[in-house]
Amino acid sequence: MKPYDTIMFYCPVCHKKNEHVLYHPRGKNEFYHATNIPEKIATQIVPVTMDCKGCEKSLSLNLEDAPVRQYNLLARVDCSSDYAGMDSWYDWGGDTNP
Ligand SMILES: [Zn+2]
Repeated sequence: MKPYDTIMFYCPVCHKKNEHVLYHPRGKNEFYHATNIPEKIATQIVPVTMDCKGCEKSLSLNLEDAPVRQYNLLARVDCSSDYAGMDSWYDWGGDTNP
């Protein structure tokens, strides 16, 4: 039998409690709630679809973005200083119009 942990979550439609069985190598048959999932479990989550036990709607499960930002350093170009550049580019374009 493959090792797994179980993540409990509530259906966004009918709010019935569902259980997502997550198979992963370090599974210990433990139960977790959908929020505050430990990193070792969260990193094992892959997007899946399953049917709600209550309303039988197809639910898409995925790791929420927020926890990912906690684990990774996110480096982005700061665009706040680019607006002047964009404005001057548009001004320049306008000047060349007949
Ligand atoms: Zn439901």
